[in-house]
Amino acid sequence: MKAVRLMETGKPLQLQKFPIPSISETDILVRVRAAGICHSDAHYRTGRSSMGKMPITLGHEVAGEVELIGPQVTNVKAGERVCLHYNISCGDCYYCQMGNEQFCETVKMLGHHIDGGYAEYVTVPEHNAIHLPNEISFEEGATLMCASATALHALRKGRIKAGETVAVFGVGGLGLSAIQLAKACGATEVFAVDIKLDKLELASEYGATPVNASRVDAVEEILKLTEGKGVNVALELIGLPKTMEQAIESLGIMGRAVIVGLTDQPISINTYHQVLGKEAEIIGSNDHLLQELPSLVDMARRKVLDTSHVISQIIPLDADKINQRLDDLENYTSDVRAVIVP
Ligand SMILES: [Zn+2]
Ligand SMILES: [Zn+2]
Repeated sequence: MKAVRLMETGKPLQLQKFPIPSISETDILVRVRAAGICHSDAHYRTGRSSMGKMPITLGHEVAGEVELIGPQVTNVKAGERVCLHYNISCGDCYYCQMGNEQFCETVKMLGHHIDGGYAEYVTVPEHNAIHLPNEISFEEGATLMCASATALHALRKGRIKAGETVAVFGVGGLGLSAIQLAKACGATEVFAVDIKLDKLELASEYGATPVNASRVDAVEEILKLTEGKGVNVALELIGLPKTMEQAIESLGIMGRAVIVGLTDQPISINTYHQVLGKEAEIIGSNDHLLQELPSLVDMARRKVLDTSHVISQIIPLDADKINQRLDDLENYTSDVRAVIVP
């Protein structure tokens, strides 16, 4: 089979040919029909994030058709459409048993620690497969498995309730999913904060109230639009200290700020005014859980969540084209969401 692989960090990916992987008794072999190219993949290529093995096939956002099943597989059949949960956890360690499998002591991520979906075939354990209804394209199914799943987990961490207001800082793939999912969870108003006009326009199309942070102070604007109350839940999806501070400052009484964006820079907040005085909470959100994916897929099937506008380029399993997309992501020259269709 063909796969586009990372042979060495800091070097372009290469197209390689090698045998179709064999499966264990509880694994399935999936014919890849779509694999999303994610910003994390650009980090993996540069070596900014340590890899589990080398060479490795990247690609953690995968959807396809089941080609073959191990003799002990019971929940999926050959020919079925599936999308894949990318974290492969042991099920037995302390964290798995507590239901927090993203912290599994031996967690292996598809396309990061083990071979992923920039290939014609990929293998995963049976329980990592989520049924993908016919109403959802493979391309959409693949991207649901990363940005949309992480957005849903963040809203759940923020304990969003019907009738609440939400501010979403950063309108990328995560943000567009977060806006729709917040509405699906019953948010009465969702403020979308960004500095790019095209993203704010797209956010408005999905029913958000745009806040253009290049023209106004985002916190002042949110306070003005909520008659001084602030929001119940703020999601920070960018990973900048400034927007993290703004997310916390935009909270109302009992508000919850959920930090999803990554940075190793510290932030500065006045805990008296911004946390204790409001009984506000600052919550970290890391990845997502397998148990969240079936309902996410169902929301996509019901079109409560529509990510079709987010995907703007389909490319073949071609090393040059994939490297070009990763270069663009690396240099922030494009926000185009590309999906590989082998
Ligand atoms: Zn991803
Ligand atoms: Zn575990």
